[in-house]
Parts: sequence; structure tokens; C-alpha cells
Amino acid sequence: MKALISALSGTPSDKDLDKAPDILRGRPTFAPQSKSEIRDLLKPALSTPCTCDHCASMDYIDHWSLCDSKKHLFEDLQIPPRRRPLFRDDRRPFNALYLARATVKYFARRVDRLEASQQTAIEYLQTMFGDEAFIEALDMDDCRNVDQGLMLEIVKNLARAFFFDEVKIDQFRWKEGYSRLVEKKGVWMFTLHPTAFDTEVPSSKATQRIGTILHELTRMFLLMNACQTCTWASKDNVNTLGRGRAWHIIAKAIEEIGSGLLHLEHIDLRRQASLLVDVQDGLDHPSLHDLRIYAFEYLVTVKHEVEDRLPAKYEPEDLLGADLEDMLTLKTARDDDD
Ligand SMILES: [Zn+2]
Ligand SMILES: [Zn+2]
Repeated sequence: MKALISALSGTPSDKDLDKAPDILRGRPTFAPQSKSEIRDLLKPALSTPCTCDHCASMDYIDHWSLCDSKKHLFEDLQIPPRRRPLFRDDRRPFNALYLARATVKYFARRVDRLEASQQTAIEYLQTMFGDEAFIEALDMDDCRNVDQGLMLEIVKNLARAFFFDEVKIDQFRWKEGYSRLVEKKGVWMFTLHPTAFDTEVPSSKATQRIGTILHELTRMFLLMNACQTCTWASKDNVNTLGRGRAWHIIAKAIEEIGSGLLHLEHIDLRRQASLLVDVQDGLDHPSLHDLRIYAFEYLVTVKHEVEDRLPAKYEPEDLLGADLEDMLTLKTARDDDD
């Protein structure tokens, strides 16, 4: 990839960092791009048993096999209409998947059922993202002129809109290096790279920056609130970066529902690149069911392989004979039936 993306938190090796231009120190920058490389990486999903709460439901019902230290109940995260989930401190931390599902439910409710401070946050964000001068400033190659106090309000309101204010944020700084939320001497600081963006994706720089903030908020929300000692489930559902199955469930919903809520054409949390680097690093082992839920199943299916085998000198539409076309149509139809 010639042009690269915003610097998302990750676990880059020194070798990768050497290759990276100074402004881009994010691991998803180096996510595999070729279809065959991606397929090889994700192929183990075809034989990986799924450990999600739907496929392995009995394991989640038997609390003590799930977690040594805590009995996690779905009821811990009830959301009454026009309210936020009742976060009882004695129930923390929560089962990561129950938390993810409650979170999606929280912002996917009918607009008239949203909670009051959530409504206010969404209206504020709609106003800001509809403000041409602000979006123009956020779309600059270098964003350092955008007021940091204003950016703090944006980040805080995103946390209110999607994460019921359960992410701690005290300050915002434009800063080169990873874009992330970190704690130092009791102060939670959100740092965003002022000049990192990807020219090869359709999203504007402003949209990419909003996506990066949401990527990081989702990760930190899970690391702050989801149980990381669930015996076998936390490595799949949270993972050490906070970017496991629970992250993917929330991230996909933010991309699909959040854009409508915030009146943005597009939100991109770099889900595919993040999954690929986490699989590469051995942090994630998605099942085929996971890939289906993430809408990435196509990356390991026949259609993808057929496209890959087409000689490069022909355009796919020139070469797709009737037989191949039928095959692909049948495959799509079968997928739709599922
Ligand atoms: Zn599953
Ligand atoms: Zn647990």
C-alpha cells in the first residue's frame, strides 16, 4: 500500500516500524492486501469451533466453567426504555459478549427510546458533523489547528452516544504516534495523530479521524468494563488488545447504525485490517460463524477463489462465462437462503 492509514493502536514489530514512514505507526497499515494472502490467513476459520455465546450457549449458561471469579448474568445489563444499562458496581466487570450486545442494543434503539443524555450527545455530534467549517478543518492534511478542547467534547460525546459514558476521558491532544486513550498519573488522555490518513480509501480524512476515535473508544470501553479473566472466553471475546469478538460486534454496528445516527455518510473502524493483523499476531482465531457475523465470510468462499484464478490481463466481467456466472449466482442464492 502506497498511502497508509491512521495510526491505530497495535503491536507492531520493530521490523514493521522500520518500514513505516514516521507519521504512520499503526499495525493495520501492514495488513495483508492480496486475496490469496488474506484467504490463507483466515482459512483456519473453516475448521475452528465457534466459542460465541450463540454457538456455545451451554458454556455461557454454566457460569462457573466460564469464569472463576465472577458469575456473569445477561440480566446485569438490562436496558429500560429511555435509560442507560444499569451498571451496578458489584456486577463489574461484565461478560464481554453480553456487554457488546447490550451496547449495540443501547444505540440501536428507536430514536424516541434513547436515553436523555444520549439524545443530547447525538444532537451535539450531528450539529458538529454538519458544520462545514469544522469538518473542513478536520479534513485538513494537518489537524493541529483544530481546538483540542473542542476535540475533547467530540470524543466525550461519542462515548456518551455509544458507550453510556463508561469510558474515562479527561484530556485530548494532537500527538504523533499511536492514536489512543491512555492513563498517566490518573489522567485519561486521548491522543490522535494529526497528520495520519489513508489516501487509498474512499473516506475523507475527517471521516477517517472519526473512525479512528470510535475504533479506540470501543477497544478501551471493553478493556475498562469487560471481564478479562473469563477462563477460556476472554482471549476470544476481548483479547489482549480489546479487539476480539466483542469489539467486532460493536464496531460493525457502529459502522452500520452509527452513521445514520450521526448523519455521516460513512464510518470506517478498519475492521478487516484489524482482524487480519490480530490473526497474524495469534491474538484472534475467528470461526466461520464469526466471519459470517462480521460480513467477512466472502473472504474465504468460492467466489473469492474464482476471482483470484482469473488471468490478470482480462477484466473479470469479460471472462466470466455462463458456467462461472451460474455458479456464482447459485452460491449467492444459497448464502441468501442461509
Ligand atoms: Zn458462533
Ligand atoms: Zn469473567
